[in-house]
Amino acid sequence: MSASDGCKRNVIAGGPGCRVLYCRDCNVAELELGSMSMRLEEHAFRTLAAILQEACVELDGGSLPSQLQAKEILNRFRRSH
Ligand SMILES: [Zn+2]
Repeated sequence: MSASDGCKRNVIAGGPGCRVLYCRDCNVAELELGSMSMRLEEHAFRTLAAILQEACVELDGGSLPSQLQAKEILNRFRRSH
């Protein structure tokens, strides 16, 4: 999927090899990881961010925001599609 351009993407986080770009015209975030890139609408990107955040908490031995919360986030995501 090549970014259909005209897009003014700005780097909003990260650096070479791992960064997030964002196009304010399209409300699309682009996650670049090495040679891979993934374009996500803002709400999908936020959902991904929440899930990653939760995974980090879990890795830290977490104050388990629990399976339930993860399901809740996923359900909200599914409903919005
Ligand atoms: Zn755009």
